[in-house]
Amino acid sequence: MMAQTSRPVSDSGLDDVALPFAVEPLDVRGRVVRLGPSVDAILTRHGYPAPVARLLGEAAALTVLLGSALKMEGRFQLQTRGDGPVDMLVVDFDAPDRLRAFARFDAERLDQARGGLSPAELLGSGHLAFTIEQGGDLSRYQGVVALTGQGLEEAAHEYFRQSEQIPTLVRLAVAESVTGGGSTWRAGGLMAQFLPEASPGRRQPDLPPGDAPEGTQIDETPEDDAWMEAKSLAATVEDHELVDPLLSSERLLYRLFHERGVKVFEPRLIKEACRCSDLRIRDMLRQFTAQERRDMIGDDGRIGVTCEFCSTHRAYDPLEFEAGA
Ligand SMILES: [Zn+2]
Repeated sequence: MMAQTSRPVSDSGLDDVALPFAVEPLDVRGRVVRLGPSVDAILTRHGYPAPVARLLGEAAALTVLLGSALKMEGRFQLQTRGDGPVDMLVVDFDAPDRLRAFARFDAERLDQARGGLSPAELLGSGHLAFTIEQGGDLSRYQGVVALTGQGLEEAAHEYFRQSEQIPTLVRLAVAESVTGGGSTWRAGGLMAQFLPEASPGRRQPDLPPGDAPEGTQIDETPEDDAWMEAKSLAATVEDHELVDPLLSSERLLYRLFHERGVKVFEPRLIKEACRCSDLRIRDMLRQFTAQERRDMIGDDGRIGVTCEFCSTHRAYDPLEFEAGA
């Protein structure tokens, strides 16, 4: 399912990229994600308080790590619901390359905490859901994992342990660099998965897991020497390396795995883009009853709709929906 054209390790020097890799001697496959302008556009546009921006940046990196396994079409969504000050995160990845995200939070609770909350505390208890839509007639898959006071990294580990039974390591990092003119956000992530070729009926490395035959299972052997080694190498990655704009993804992988040899595949470029449109919103408004639409009319006599993802505001004449009704 992954591009088979392996390339020599050389610098792509690119931001907003997902780079698949393999460490074949250790039966490891994974991806590195580096988000620059895309995640900065999302976090800056919303003007989120720094702790919320950090959390959403992590969620964006995790979403691209998982979603970029989809090929040319399909949609991957990460959503959290919890009882913490950030009660909802939504991140959409539309294959092959589009990313959008928003967070909902309680400003008062956040203020009371004076920024002293960890990402796990911001989320609180609740759940994290991954939804994959393959497009066309293909099925929709949803995996859910409980949030019980852990952060997104740990929740992702839990998900792979429970739902996929693939030994997986996920690392996420977000950084804000403050300059005279304001601040710039970056996010990065690394995912490594243990997928031994020899294991019969092994699952494909890439999402979705939904198309694995019924009853397919791999024996998880967490003590496997190869995986232990891969995990300890991958775990040495530092937060600052994941978000360093001067360190390419290729060089980062080389630092981690050069002793075993690491192969990289075609990078996937990522961009920030919303999929809202006049057409979709008009369709959505038509789904409401005439009474519901009347209740939406604002003081200016129009129905205003603001996209939660990209903050685009659009206003409609209510009469256009009543014609012929
Ligand atoms: Zn939008």
